[in-house]
Amino acid sequence: MERRHEVPEKVVIIGSGPAGWSAAIYAARANLSPLLFEGTPQPEMIPLGQLAFTTEVENFAGFPSGDIRSFVESAVDTSRHWNLPPAPKGHEKDGRPHYAVQGVELMELMKQQALNFGTRVVGDDIVDVDFQSRPLKVMPASGEPVETHTIILATGARANYLGLPSEEAFKNRGISACAVCDGALPRFRSGPVAVVGGGDAAVEEATYLTAFAPKVYLVHRRDELRASKVMQQRAFDNEKVEILWSYVVDEVLGNEEDGVTGIRLRSTKDDSTKEWEVAGMFVSVGHTPNTAFLSGKLELSEKGYIKWTTPFRTYTSAEGVFAAGDVADDYYRQAITSAGTGCMAALDAERHLAEKGL
Ligand SMILES: Cc1cc2nc3c(=O)[nH]c(=O)nc-3n(C[C@H](O)[C@H](O)[C@H](O)COP(=O)(O)OP(=O)(O)OC[C@H]3O[C@@H](n4cnc5c(N)ncnc54)[C@H](O)[C@@H]3O)c2cc1C
Repeated sequence: MERRHEVPEKVVIIGSGPAGWSAAIYAARANLSPLLFEGTPQPEMIPLGQLAFTTEVENFAGFPSGDIRSFVESAVDTSRHWNLPPAPKGHEKDGRPHYAVQGVELMELMKQQALNFGTRVVGDDIVDVDFQSRPLKVMPASGEPVETHTIILATGARANYLGLPSEEAFKNRGISACAVCDGALPRFRSGPVAVVGGGDAAVEEATYLTAFAPKVYLVHRRDELRASKVMQQRAFDNEKVEILWSYVVDEVLGNEEDGVTGIRLRSTKDDSTKEWEVAGMFVSVGHTPNTAFLSGKLELSEKGYIKWTTPFRTYTSAEGVFAAGDVADDYYRQAITSAGTGCMAALDAERHLAEKGL
């Protein structure tokens, strides 16, 4: 897309997940003509954000199952139809497709909505920033630095995986990194599931999944959990949770037709292996926020997330710089919460511009 620069820009948005596009929709409708950098494909990170890695999204309000494809094709510019995944097979009602919106479809709809109101989109990564100068500056990987009065950081996060080739092969077919997102899907109700990890998040995911799966195995490499005592007790008290102490996952087992059918575990004590039948595996070994390019530029938490400096505002420690979505949230990590804070960041940026008379 042609880059038409305002000098300086009023709002630059970095990131192309639900937070970035929602911020863009609000900023564009406020006549701020936002410039959005959507990024390029990187390991575990692609334009359109984390939802672009998943299939059906059943919990984004406003998208009940239905003939989604007709709507998506009518809304999204034909030049981008190549990017739409095929509609899932076997989901039909009265002879018409009937399924929950797929991740890429939802993200293409958000992008289209932002474009419709005049967002300018650049397919590049921001590799450096200057939050000291006025106007502020962002440096794309290619091209000239861009000056801007406000910046919205919406670069998201990456779920950490174990790094096994078999895990990669079964993503979306029994491997997940989000229990709240996927736990209710039929596959994960059909048999025991495994959760890998030992911190608070892993215990929380394991107990959450007991609402759906008949049995949940918590696979942990050590002989005690890292989780807080309260969380540990929650796992011990839940009779559907069984902790498999001192094991790591050696390989995910499965086949083309059924996806994941089991896992092979290796003992961290004596290297012995055994196989467990599971219908799915949830990896809960943390997330990495996409903030490497922000190091030393503004306040980050110990885990590298951007810190909001005022409760219920998207302000950061740098004036005129706002943060939205998973990059500033290591707790909720949902598409709809990211979209919500994206809206907040655009409103915060708009008010900042008005206050400064910019
Ligand atoms: C497999 C999977 C399934 C999920 N399923 C669900 C679900 O069903 N429901 C739900 O609510 N949530 C789900 N989630 C969580 C949800 O996807 C995230 O909470 C949400 O996408 C976060 O949105 P975001 O806008 O903060 O950032 P992200 O979605 O992480 O997007 C940020 C994007 O910004 C771009 N970017 C990053 N750095 C730069 C840079 N320096 N310059 C330019 N661009 C950059 C990248 O392309 C990146 O992908 C799922 C997550 C995963 C991994």
